[in-house]
Parts: sequence; C-alpha cells; structure tokens
Amino acid sequence: MFEYAPAPESRDVVDIRPSYGLFIGGEWVDSQGENRNKTVNPASEEVLAEVAWATEADVDRAVQAARKAFGVWSALPGSERAKYLFRIARIIQERSRELAVLESLDNGKPIRESRDVDLPLVAAHFFYYAGWADKLGYAGYGPGPRPLGVAGQVIPWNFPLLMLAWKIAPALACGNTVVLKPAETTPLTALLFAEICAQADLPPGVVNIVTGAGETGAALVNHPDVDKVAFTGSTEVGRQIARSVAGTGKKVTLELGGKAANIVFEDAALDQAVEGIVNGIFFNQGHVCCAGSRLLVQESIETELLDALKRRLGTLRLGDPLDKNTDIGAINSAAQLAKIRELSDLGEAEGAERWSPACSLPDKGFWFPPTIFTGVAQSHRIAREEVFGPVLSVLTFRTPAEAVEKANNTPFGLSAGVWTEKGSRILWMADRLRAGVVWANTFNRFDPTSPFGGYKESGYGREGGRHGLEAYLDV
Ligand code: NAD
Repeated sequence: MFEYAPAPESRDVVDIRPSYGLFIGGEWVDSQGENRNKTVNPASEEVLAEVAWATEADVDRAVQAARKAFGVWSALPGSERAKYLFRIARIIQERSRELAVLESLDNGKPIRESRDVDLPLVAAHFFYYAGWADKLGYAGYGPGPRPLGVAGQVIPWNFPLLMLAWKIAPALACGNTVVLKPAETTPLTALLFAEICAQADLPPGVVNIVTGAGETGAALVNHPDVDKVAFTGSTEVGRQIARSVAGTGKKVTLELGGKAANIVFEDAALDQAVEGIVNGIFFNQGHVCCAGSRLLVQESIETELLDALKRRLGTLRLGDPLDKNTDIGAINSAAQLAKIRELSDLGEAEGAERWSPACSLPDKGFWFPPTIFTGVAQSHRIAREEVFGPVLSVLTFRTPAEAVEKANNTPFGLSAGVWTEKGSRILWMADRLRAGVVWANTFNRFDPTSPFGGYKESGYGREGGRHGLEAYLDV
C-alpha cells in the first residue's frame, strides 16, 4: 500500500526565479506596496518563490494598461487575433513539460494529471477559441457582436493554469483585454504564462497578471473601469462579488462550488463505476468544483460496490507529486488541510462511519488520505457542504425518483454522474437532475467545445463552447 518506485519528473526543467513582480503593460514591474507573498510547495513546505502582492494602485495601473490596449486589440481583424491565440497554444504545447512540473510543484497535484489532463486541456482551449476569433458573426448572436472591454478575472488554486485558459482564451478571442489575478497559493504558472504572452509577441497590455490575495481580487472586481467580471472560486466569495458589483452595470459570470452526486444503479457495469467513483472524488485530491463527492448507490448493490471500491482504494499511491506513479498528491495548503480535517471530524461526530485504506503519510507537507464515509444522512454537514478534498460521502436510494430527489437536495447544482446500462434511464435522469453537467457512465470529462457552469448556488454563466463566448460579447 502506497509504496512507490521513485521515478520523479525532474524539477530542473523549470527555472523558478526567487522573486516575481507584476506583469503589466507587457513589462515586469514592482508592486507599489511593501507586502510580498511566499508561495510554497505543498508536498515539502519548501518556499518556491516570493511573489508581489498587488495594491489597489497596482491594480489600477494594470486596468489602465488593459484599457489602453483594448483600442488596438479590439480593432484587429478576428483572423489576426486568432494568429496570436494559435501561437500561444503552440508555445503552451512546446513548453508543456515545464508548465506541468511547475503546476505540480506549486499546487501539489500528481504530475500524471498536470501532464496528461491539465496541460492538454489548456492548449486545447486556446486552439478552440482561436478558431472562433474570426467567426464571431456565426456564433449565433447576429452580425457584428462587440467585445465588452476590460475583463477582470479572478481564479482559484485547484486548476491554476486551466482556469486561466478558460478565462483568457474566450476573452481574447472576442477582442477583450484582460487583468487576471491568480490564487495566492498558486501564482507561478500564471506568471510563466505572462512570459509566454511576451514570447508570442502579444501586444502589451492585452494580458496583465496581478498577484495577491483577496484584497487584490476585490480591488480588481470593484475597479470602475472594469467592464466584465469573471470569477471562479467559493460560493461565499462569489456572493460578496455579486453584491459588490450589483448596480454597477458590469457583466458578471460566477463559477462557484459544488456537491455533486455520482449515482450508481444496480445494472451499472460495476468495475467501470468503481473507476468513475475514484476519478470523481480522488482526482486532484478532490480539489474539484464538480467532484463526485456524494456517492448515491442503489441499496441492492451497496455492499458489493463498497467492497470493490475499498479494494481499489487500497491500490492508490499517495506521495511525491512529481513521481509519475503517484495517484494522490498533496493538499494545496495548510488552511485547506485544516478545513478537510474539520469537516471529516465533524462527519464522525455526527455519526457517520469513517474509512481510509492503511497508509502512511509523508512527514513534511500537507496530506490527507482518501476517505469514505458510510451511514451518511442527508442532514449531515459532510453530505451538504463542499469539503474540497479526498472525502466521499455514501448515501443509498431504492428508486430512480428517490435518487433524483436526493441528488437535487443540495444548494449546489454544478454536475452529476449517472451509471446505468439503460439509455432511457440516463435521459430520464438527465432531464430531472438540476446540474449544469450530467455525465453518463463517465465522470470529470472536460472538453473545450462543451459549456460548463452551474445551477443554483454553483453560479451563473457558462464557460467553454459557443456559450462561453456569450460572457465576453455584446450583441
Ligand atoms: P476562494 O473563493 O477563496 O478564492 C478564489 C479567488 O478569489 C482567489 O484568487 C482569491 O484570492 C480571490 N478572492 C478572495 N476573496 C476575494 C474577494 N473578496 N474579492 C475578489 N476576489 C477574492 O476559493 P478557492 O479556495 O481559491 O477555490 C476553491 C473554490 O473554488 C471551491 O469552492 C470550488 O468549488 C470553486 N471552484 C469552482 C469552479 C467552477 O468552475 N465552478 C472551478 C474551480 C473551483
């Protein structure tokens, strides 16, 4: 259990500077404030770099640079903007090893995931939206749709580069310019992306990266010259942002939290469902907004499915994120680890039964074992709140109607999974599940051509696909 043959990806492929400034108007500049933020490798607690902490004045400088660039960028023919986006996509592919290693170092995710999932999807988003840049008139919004202006974009730490791609690629394709703020614990790939923009000769000010914590994000979304706010993060902060921009005329999209049900019927292909459950909740240590964090299993197969699931968990390898054999990496931060521990302890205190495979956790760094709770009631906090960690709550159902009722019994509505061999049942369920994405016999599948986004407290607006353009265009 959890022993691994070390075959680490070399961290020598990345050149991490000891200290980073802000990327504004195509140049690296110092912050006007004194504060600096240290970003650490969550698998070792080693400080990776010191990063600027942008003040309100820095944010203002970045927004002004974006405003200045908007005139030039929005006036380019779409085919010209497409060339830049294609160029960025190709550089991302060329530098994907470097980007993947840096992502795993800063975030803690297994290199197998950053290399095989995050990076290919990042490049795919730029390729996909490059293809739209000269076809906006065909996007279904009538002739001559116009960009909105300056987009202020704030992203979380769970998919740092992929969330950047979801935001920046459609914004630029439509002719907007961008000020983006990455999360405070994972700024490094966004800063390397700034270098890639320079390498692609993107006109100065089209993309600006400001680092910092919540105050920097708040300064950005509240800046009067920002036309469009795009936020991905917690429902709590999303609510604050919605309140603060209300009445300003800014356009807003919010991609927030989730508590997805992964629903397994007795006729499902069980081996396949077990893989889907594992992928649904243990991919990226469960730091996934659409994670299948509630397993709804039909009562008749509960014992069989749980036995198979536990056997499978016994084979997962937890450890060094740069080891190519690792399945489960580090928790992104001490704060997130504390939150996962708190909710898990509460699960036990509320009467659910906790199970993890035998495993030893590394001494240094932030770690949490894959964990299953059985005997969970719908009222338990582990069944209702987003843990955002490798923790699965198991509930049972008897009929499809009961499965729907339980799946929808949540304030969130981002995603759901259905496992059954009956096609008619998949369609019946999909019609009734209140979730932006319903996966059938798979989970956590993403594609730039598909719109992604939530119902209810999971937010509003869609990213990805043709619908993703809508957030960045005026008709
Ligand atoms: P968070 O809300 O704490 O932070 C997200 C970002 O917002 C960070 O960059 C942070 O610095 C910034 N921020 C914090 N306070 C702010 C404020 N008042 N104004 C403006 N910006 C502010 O979330 P997190 O812990 O980084 O990310 C985890 C959350 O993100 C989870 O709830 C997860 O479900 C959600 N998420 C959603 C999606 C989606 O597509 N729906 C995708 C990924 C993550």
